[in-house]
Amino acid sequence: MKHADIIKQMTLEEKASLCDGLDYWHSQPVERVGIKSFSLNDGPHGIRKKGNPEENTDLLKGVPAICFPTASATACSWDTDLIYKMGEALGEECLKEQVSVLLGPGTNIKRSPLCGRNFEYFSEDGVLAGEMSAAFVNGVQSKGIGTSLKHYAANNQETRRMTVNAVVDERTLRETYLLPFEIAVKKAQPWTVMNSYNRVNGTYAAENKWLLTDVLRKDFGFKGVVVTDWGAENERVPGLIAGQELEMPTSSGIGTKLIIEAVQNGTLDEAILDAACDKLIDMAKKAESVLGNYTYDSDAHHNLARQIAGQCMVLMKNDNNALPVKKDAKIALIGEMARTPRYQGAGSSLINPIKLDSAYDTLKEMGADFTFAAGYTLKGKNKKANEMVAEAVNNAKNADVALVFVGLTDDYETEGNDRSHINLPPIHNTLVEEVLKVNPNTIVVLSGGASVTMPWADKVPAILNMFLTGQAGGSAVCDIIFGDVNPSGKLAETYPIALEDNSSYNFFPGTSVSVEYRESVYVGYKYYDTAKKEVAFPFGHGLSYTTFEYSDVKVSSDKIKDTDTVTVSFKIKNTGAVDGAEVAQIYVNDVESTIYRPVKELRAFKKVFLKAGEETEVSVELDKRAFAYYNVELGDWHVESGDFKILVGASSRDIRLETTVFVESTVEARVPDYKETAPSYYGANIMNVSADEFKAVYGKELPPSVRDKNAPFTLLNTIEDSKDGKWGGRIYRLLIKLLGEGTMMSGIATQLPIKNFISMSFGLFSPEMAKGLILILHEDKMMKGLGIIFKGIPNLIKNLGKLKQI
Ligand code: BGC
Repeated sequence: MKHADIIKQMTLEEKASLCDGLDYWHSQPVERVGIKSFSLNDGPHGIRKKGNPEENTDLLKGVPAICFPTASATACSWDTDLIYKMGEALGEECLKEQVSVLLGPGTNIKRSPLCGRNFEYFSEDGVLAGEMSAAFVNGVQSKGIGTSLKHYAANNQETRRMTVNAVVDERTLRETYLLPFEIAVKKAQPWTVMNSYNRVNGTYAAENKWLLTDVLRKDFGFKGVVVTDWGAENERVPGLIAGQELEMPTSSGIGTKLIIEAVQNGTLDEAILDAACDKLIDMAKKAESVLGNYTYDSDAHHNLARQIAGQCMVLMKNDNNALPVKKDAKIALIGEMARTPRYQGAGSSLINPIKLDSAYDTLKEMGADFTFAAGYTLKGKNKKANEMVAEAVNNAKNADVALVFVGLTDDYETEGNDRSHINLPPIHNTLVEEVLKVNPNTIVVLSGGASVTMPWADKVPAILNMFLTGQAGGSAVCDIIFGDVNPSGKLAETYPIALEDNSSYNFFPGTSVSVEYRESVYVGYKYYDTAKKEVAFPFGHGLSYTTFEYSDVKVSSDKIKDTDTVTVSFKIKNTGAVDGAEVAQIYVNDVESTIYRPVKELRAFKKVFLKAGEETEVSVELDKRAFAYYNVELGDWHVESGDFKILVGASSRDIRLETTVFVESTVEARVPDYKETAPSYYGANIMNVSADEFKAVYGKELPPSVRDKNAPFTLLNTIEDSKDGKWGGRIYRLLIKLLGEGTMMSGIATQLPIKNFISMSFGLFSPEMAKGLILILHEDKMMKGLGIIFKGIPNLIKNLGKLKQI
C-alpha cells in the first residue's frame, strides 16, 4: 500500500467516511490526517458545476463553460489526436473551476438507436468507442485532472436503467460491451470508473464482484477508484467487498455507519477497507497537487470547439457537388435550428455555454445574401405550422439554394428516457418535402445526437449531418457549407432504413424486470453486414469535397502465429482538387469459423490529412486480439487457426482493398460450436432467436423476465412496478400527469427504486417514509402508510432547501 502510514493513523470511522461522498459533488476530507476533499463534476463534453444556488434556480444549470461537441459527434471525427486536444482543453477548464474529476467519457455501446443517451456515447463499435474514450481520458488527465469512465457496464438503455437486469452472455459482454472499457483502461488508466445503475446478469453493477474485481482490476489492470453512478449504490458493504470504493453522492452517513458496523461485527475484513482508502487517499493527493489559481483563454477554447466540430460533421450525401455553396449565392435559410441551434443533449451533461454560435448569426456576419424562415417552432403545439412552411417555401422559390435545418428537438432525446421511434418531428419532414418541391437545390442540415430516418433522403441532393456539435457548431457548419473546411467525418453508427431493422429491435428495452441481449455479438454494422441488410447510411460512411484512392495493400507476413503481430500497410492518395482528410478503416473477417462471428469487425483505423494530389502510406499493426474471439470455455481470447481477410475500407460497405493472412493458434482449445444448439446465430438470423438458443449461448438458465406479482414490494421496487395496483396505479398516473409523459423527470420518478427516494433526497424522504410508501403500495395497509408519510412531511418541507445542492 502506498499510504499505509496515513491509514495507520486513521480511526475506523475516518476510514469508513472516506468511502462516502461529502455532498452531491465532493468526496469526504479527513483533515486530521491531511486528506482533502476533491470535487467530481459532470461531464463529459464540458463542465457542469453548480453555480451559486441563490442566483440560480435552474437545478441543472451550472457556471458558464465551454460546450464541446457531444460524444456521438466527436466519434465521427475518428481523430484521436483531436479528442486528446479536446481533453486537454477540458482539463485546463477543470483546473480553473477546481474540478478534480470530470465525469466522463460516456463509453457505452449504442446497442439500439432508441437509447435516450446515445448522444453522450461514442459508437456502436467497441474499438472506435474505446479509442475515443482513451484519447479523451489521456487528454484530460495530462493536465492532472481525473476522469470517470462511465457507465460500467451494460447500461445501454435509459428505460428502467436503475433496476433492469441486463442478461448478456459473457462472450458478448467481453467482445462488445466491455471492450471499449477495456481499451480505455489499458491505454489511459482513468482515475475512476463509474459503475452503472443496472444489474448485470442478476447482480447490481455496484456490487458485481465479477465486473469490478475479476474483469476490471484483474483482467484489464484497472488501478483507480470505482465510484457509483449517482445513487447507484445498492448494499454498501457488499459493494465495497466487490471492489467499489466510493459511494456518490453522499449517503448522508448511512453507508459510513454500515461499513463501521460490518468491520465491528466481523462481516467486513478491515484490510478491504484499508485497500479502498489507499486508492482514495492517492486520488485525493493527486487532486490536491494541482489545485491553484488558473485561467484559460475562452476564445481559444471556443475556436478549438469550432475546429473539432468541423472535423465531426458527416457529409452523408452530396450529389452533383451540391455542397459547398458559393459565398455569393442567394440563400434561403430555413429551420428554427439554424437560428436556435440544438447543440447538446438533455440531462446530467447539460452545459451552460459561454457563448453560442448559430448558422443564422454566422451568415449575417459573413454578409451573405439570405432570407430566413423558421419553418417550425421548437416547443409547444404550433398552430401556425402551415403558414410557417408556406413562408419557407416562398423564400426557397426565389433562392439559388435552400439550406434546411432540421433534426431532433430536446424532447426527442434525453437522459432518463429512451425514444420510442427514430423519426424526425413530422413537421420537419414536411418542411423538407415542401421546400424540395420548389427548389431542387435543397440541402438538408441535420442536428441530433442519434440516428434518424430520413424519408426524403433519396430526393434531396445533399445531407450534412452536424450532430450535436456544441457551442461552436453553428459557425463550424458554415465553414463546411461554404467550403472553408472540407468535411471528413464518418458515421460512428449505422443509419438504418427502419427501426425494425435493428438487431435489438425485438428485445429492447426488455420487460419490467430484465432485458435480454439475445442478438449477441451482432450489434450495429456487425449485424447489418452479416445479415446482408440494406441500410440507409452504413457505419463508417462519410463523403468529402475531394476523392481518395486506396492502393498497394501489403502484409508484413502472410502467415503468423497468434503470438506474433502483423503490419498491414497500404497507400491513400488524395485524387481531387482540394486538401482533405480520409478515415481508413481496417476490418477483419474470419473466413471460416466454428463459432459464429460477424462477417467483419473493425480492428483499426487511421485518419490521414492529405493535400490535393498527395499520397501517403498508412500502416497499422494487428495482434492476436484482431483475430481472436472470446472463448468462454477457455476463459480467454482465442484464435481459431485459419485464413483471415483484412479488409481496408472507406466505410464498412465500401471495402477498397483486401488481403489475407493465415493465423495459427498456439493455444490448444476446443472452439465452442453452437451449430446444433443455437443455429440462428450463424449468419445472424437473430431477429427472432428463441429462448432456448439464447440459453445455449448464455450457458445457464435464463433469469425470470417478469416480476412475481405475489412478491411483496421492497425498497428495490419502483412506482412503475406497482402501477397495476389501486394506489400504485393512482400514484403512477399522477406522476405522469404532473411531470409529463415520456419526459426525463417522469421517467426518473416512476422508475426510481424506493431506496433512492431516501438517498437522492439526502434522507429528507426518510427510511420511515419509504416504509410508509411501501405500505401504501400494499393496498390493504394504505391508511397506515399514509399516516407515516404525513408524519414525515413537515420535516421534509422544512429542509427542502438542501436539495438546491444538486
Ligand atoms: C448520470 C451520470 C452523471 C451523474 C452525476 C447520473 O444520473 O447517469 O452520468 O455523471 O448522474 O450527475
